[in-house]
Amino acid sequence: MRKKRNTVIFAALVILVALGSLLVQETLLKKEGSYAVVSSGGEEAARLPLSKNTELVIGDKKQGYNRIRVEDGFVFVEEADCADKICVHEGKISRTGEVIACLPHQLIITVESANRDDADTVAW
Ligand SMILES: [Zn+2]
Repeated sequence: MRKKRNTVIFAALVILVALGSLLVQETLLKKEGSYAVVSSGGEEAARLPLSKNTELVIGDKKQGYNRIRVEDGFVFVEEADCADKICVHEGKISRTGEVIACLPHQLIITVESANRDDADTVAW
């Protein structure tokens, strides 16, 4: 009897934890003001808010370029002249931690949540 009771409590705990983490994820994902951080050659080149539709070209036609677009909360590489075009085919990303990389151009786009920025702001 006691064992069964423990099992029920355990199951309830597992469900609670699962629901909790789901809630946290949902809140983080739906948090507005997430950024697409664009790094070129290992250095941060731009930080684009996903809430604002915009376009950014990194590089030029001589050295190679990536045309990055932010649209409806997503960021993606619209066009690039790299050989493999993997960055273009990676499609749209919007969730914290997702990455688009263009290895030939040493370009990396990552999505960061605004929470980290809040923490940074508090720190100074
Ligand atoms: Zn590429």
